[in-house]
Amino acid sequence: MNQLAFSLVEVGFNYNAKVIPLSNHELAQCCCATVQLQLSGKPLFRGYCHCTSCQSYTGRNYSDVSIFRASDVAITDESAVAFKSYQKPALVQRGKCVGCQSSTHEKVSIPGLPDLIIVATEILPPTLETEPMMHMFYHRRVKDVSDNVVKHSGFIKSQTAFMGLLFKTLWRSRGAG
Ligand SMILES: [Zn+2]
Ligand SMILES: [Zn+2]
Repeated sequence: MNQLAFSLVEVGFNYNAKVIPLSNHELAQCCCATVQLQLSGKPLFRGYCHCTSCQSYTGRNYSDVSIFRASDVAITDESAVAFKSYQKPALVQRGKCVGCQSSTHEKVSIPGLPDLIIVATEILPPTLETEPMMHMFYHRRVKDVSDNVVKHSGFIKSQTAFMGLLFKTLWRSRGAG
């Protein structure tokens, strides 16, 4: 055991490397397959959002989303997506498939941070599904959710939790995309 640990240190094995590069692109697609996203990295994290914009956008009680670096996502045909912003300032552009109207992905630009693409978890291939890290804007919930996932209520607390996870996961995956 000690021998092994020693030799791994010798060859510079990085125990902190959480991001395993995918050998080729994975494909996310909506139910009618008009919108196809090529994913070349893993999601930074996954979360549930109960804000009213997510409710209108998805037509559901809350959104289930996986956050990616924009540099890890390529879309085969952007004309297949209709984007809309639900708040001002328009930091988030929320896209729906023009064919099946399902919520596919959102483009997020936060000044000073890498651009992000937020993908509806349900369109991801199972290989890219991760455990949800939190519920946010839980005070806006339509219904209580009974699970063991941490729940953040209030605007400031929700934003802080989101940014905290974002910084942590961007830091962890630095240099990987
Ligand atoms: Zn939301
Ligand atoms: Zn579609």
